[in-house]
Amino acid sequence: MNKRLTDKVAVISGGTSGIGEATVELFVQEGARVVFSGRSIEKGKAIAERTGAVYFQADVMSEEDIKGTIQAATDHFGGLDILFNNAGGSTKGPVETVTAAEIEYAWTLLFSSAVLSTKYAVPYMKRRGGGCIINNSSIAGLRDNQGDLMYSSVKAALTHYSKLAGTRLGPEGIRVNVISPGAIATPIFWGGPQVPLEDGEYEGKMGKLQRNLAKASPLGSSGVALDIANGALFLASEEGRFINSHDLVIDGGRTSMFFEKPEQA
Ligand code: NAP
Repeated sequence: MNKRLTDKVAVISGGTSGIGEATVELFVQEGARVVFSGRSIEKGKAIAERTGAVYFQADVMSEEDIKGTIQAATDHFGGLDILFNNAGGSTKGPVETVTAAEIEYAWTLLFSSAVLSTKYAVPYMKRRGGGCIINNSSIAGLRDNQGDLMYSSVKAALTHYSKLAGTRLGPEGIRVNVISPGAIATPIFWGGPQVPLEDGEYEGKMGKLQRNLAKASPLGSSGVALDIANGALFLASEEGRFINSHDLVIDGGRTSMFFEKPEQA
């Protein structure tokens, strides 16, 4: 059977949990050679062993680490075709009490990480005659009441950046698209993979989260990480060859629902 990413080299940030982890697994199954990053060393090593992908420990708040991740992929596999800028986490900063540090944190984690990673990836993609960049944004960048104010505002900027980068890099054969997930049950809802859990606690938390997210979904079920990984695969594969500067919303229809006024500014 033909695989959809045979011979492609992919870099995935935030591959140590949730959407990134599911994408690492799926891309490897589809024949890609994958380098993934994240800060959680134990998880990174375990996922690398399970999937055959290469783990590179990196913090996307550091430009050196971002550069190192791209370099690791080209050192290992001789080039780069696909970049999934997926790493992210919660932020804070209400209108009237936000601090400069909170603003800087949100931009560095959710925006600069993708922009700088793109900067370092593009020269390698040009050498291949093209490539595919996917940024993981959020429906919080489209509607209110889906996340913290800073998170939502920065994700909106990431979505717009992705569309503009697509028109600028299109002539080089590099497509840039963005995915806006909504209500996907992952550890981001309890602080990400850095939060230590007792044995069996993960399953309990995940079950409760899925039931809660299902209540606010037109489909009556929550999304899972693989739903977004499948979207990324579609965009990265030959089937996505004419899709550029596009925002692929994967949220079970949540953005079309009516939402109450946010509780806090
Ligand atoms: P998750 O399970 O918490 O995974 C987040 C990933 O990002 C982890 O691998 C984490 O790894 C990595 N990460 C966080 N901070 C990092 C840093 N400073 N440096 C390097 N890696 C970092 O959450 P997820 O839901 O899969 O989130 C993935 C992306 O989807 C995020 O950009 C998020 O904003 C977006 N998203 C999720 C949803 C949803 O409903 N789940 C909705 C909209 C958008 P380490 O902790 O090991 O570094």
